[in-house]
Amino acid sequence: MSQDQAPCVTTRASRRDFLKASAAAAFAVGGEPWLAAAGGERPACGSTTRLSEHLSVYHGPINVGLVRDGDRALLIDCGDGRVADVLPELGVRSVAQVVFTHHHRDQACGASRWAASGAKFGVPESERELFADPAAYWNDDKNLWRVYASFRPHRLTLAEPVRVDEAYADGQSLRFGAATIRVLATPGHTDGSLSYAVEVDGRRVVFCGDCLYSAGRVWDVYSLQRGFSQGNRRIGGYHGFLGDRWRLVESLARLQALEPQTLVPSHGEVMSAPAKAIGALTQRFESCYENYVAISALRHYFPDLFAAYAGRPGQMPIRPGIDPPSCLRHFGTTWMLVSKTGAAFVMDVGSNNVVRQLQKMIERGEIKRVEGLWVTHYHFDHTDGIPLFQKEFDCPCFTDRRLADVLSNPRAWRLPCLAPEAVRVHRPMEDGQSWEWQEFKLTSYFFPGQTLYHAALLVEGQGLRMLFVGDSHTMSGIDDYCAQNRNFLGRGVGFQYCLTLIEKLQPTHLFNCHVNPAFTFTPQEIRFMRETLDEREQRLGALVPWPHANYGLDESWVRCFPYAQQVRAGQRVKLDVIVTNHASQTQATSCRAAIPPAWGGTSTDWTRADVPAKSERSLPLTLAIPAAVPARRYVVPIDVQHGPWDLPQFAEAIVDVS
Ligand SMILES: [Zn+2]
Ligand SMILES: [Zn+2]
Repeated sequence: MSQDQAPCVTTRASRRDFLKASAAAAFAVGGEPWLAAAGGERPACGSTTRLSEHLSVYHGPINVGLVRDGDRALLIDCGDGRVADVLPELGVRSVAQVVFTHHHRDQACGASRWAASGAKFGVPESERELFADPAAYWNDDKNLWRVYASFRPHRLTLAEPVRVDEAYADGQSLRFGAATIRVLATPGHTDGSLSYAVEVDGRRVVFCGDCLYSAGRVWDVYSLQRGFSQGNRRIGGYHGFLGDRWRLVESLARLQALEPQTLVPSHGEVMSAPAKAIGALTQRFESCYENYVAISALRHYFPDLFAAYAGRPGQMPIRPGIDPPSCLRHFGTTWMLVSKTGAAFVMDVGSNNVVRQLQKMIERGEIKRVEGLWVTHYHFDHTDGIPLFQKEFDCPCFTDRRLADVLSNPRAWRLPCLAPEAVRVHRPMEDGQSWEWQEFKLTSYFFPGQTLYHAALLVEGQGLRMLFVGDSHTMSGIDDYCAQNRNFLGRGVGFQYCLTLIEKLQPTHLFNCHVNPAFTFTPQEIRFMRETLDEREQRLGALVPWPHANYGLDESWVRCFPYAQQVRAGQRVKLDVIVTNHASQTQATSCRAAIPPAWGGTSTDWTRADVPAKSERSLPLTLAIPAAVPARRYVVPIDVQHGPWDLPQFAEAIVDVS
């Protein structure tokens, strides 16, 4: 099979998937001749399923709905446009209308195929601007860097505009030939997501976008990151893990109330027992969230928000903190180590206030001088004061070398709470590298806790073993699933790695940058957290269709490096597509860049690599920018094939042409 006729997920499904699909079909077949005819297997990529005389589904990288009226068709989503290839053999001569469930690129990036042919495009009213003018989103740096409380996972916003001829809101009805199409607001996967209930030939079929993937599963978990309130406490989008599941569950209840015979998702399997599929998903959300809360560090910060879970069996009890030793000071997000000589070693500088405070302490004689800086992680509430600090104090900056890469070149990364201004790190440290400072021994550790790019510092001296863990823990557990931070599940990675390190180092105190008391974890508490994470890997793994939970949690498993770069017109753009294989088998992986229309359109050649299990590989791409293109920001989408998955425009790079 040539790379241009990419396989969809269905054609290389494993025997296990096949058996699962058969079992699902076994209870779903009643009155579904097409499923029975297909032997219970999910339809092959590029195939079409006829649901009734006037209604079919094309199975590409996404499912596309086809409503027929003679030789005209209305499409529900159009994916990357390859549905066009099968229209002639279905007797469709023209596409009169395309209606979209939501604004993601994988739903709509092929729309330009019909733009000139007179097709009408209809979009969700509340996502109109994201279709008509996606550049407004991409050109605003506030959507790319320093993203915190306002966080919404809009990474899959279109790269090129789609003309909007009509916009739909909840309750509207459309007619197309013999079909009536009811519009339902079903937010969750995106804020403005719509579902379309098609009534034709005596059937009611709901095209539900990415509300769910199949019975009990969603396409990804990170799209559900959203702020929420409970009582009068509120949590921002950055902290809102699964925060949109309530809205999604309400949306699913609205779908169910229509009692459709069939549910057709964008990504996923056609469902013939919608009520069962939805019920299974609602249950899984609850069990995943209960597991998440059980050891969440947020229970310390926002106890009211999680009051309903407190004291339930399976929730780790929270022990109070302990007093910090006298060699430490704490202000803002800064911990400061003070030697008997009066010299100070500073950890994190979250604002210029910290610098002024240090100057006052020197004036008052509380410390004599500042001799070093350590950075725990890249979040701006830990780094924003560093430029002024480095102007005022002439001392080396230390941190883990992986974190140093982010700090010194932030625009090459798309991470939350990352300031786009570079920070100078003089001493990028290897994992486990030690040095002496005054009467203390300091050791740098890679610590992939709150974020993958995070460091821990062990300070030994005065009979103490103090471990500074940044924001990774509070006394109530682990601080994970803040948007886009890349928390991996699995033994030997993420918090499992961090907990193993704590077990090994046996610190007398743990310190969080935001929390004044120190704390410790008992061996029983560590075991409890590890077992909860093992269980989580299973539960979240069952919630998504991917071969490992991490694909559904890690929005950056395919990322471009550099994420953003400045290039002059007429030059070449070089970038690496870095693919993290979260599965436990090698995955054949290919990628290519979709060339912006202003640069001449179409795509680069495919670059291929086998990515070994549980590791990452770089796939290099080069694009030529014509000399005459206007200076502005361009979004370069990346098509990805990974094992059996065919993922048009799944990642993107930003190219600022000057
Ligand atoms: Zn989507
Ligand atoms: Zn942080």
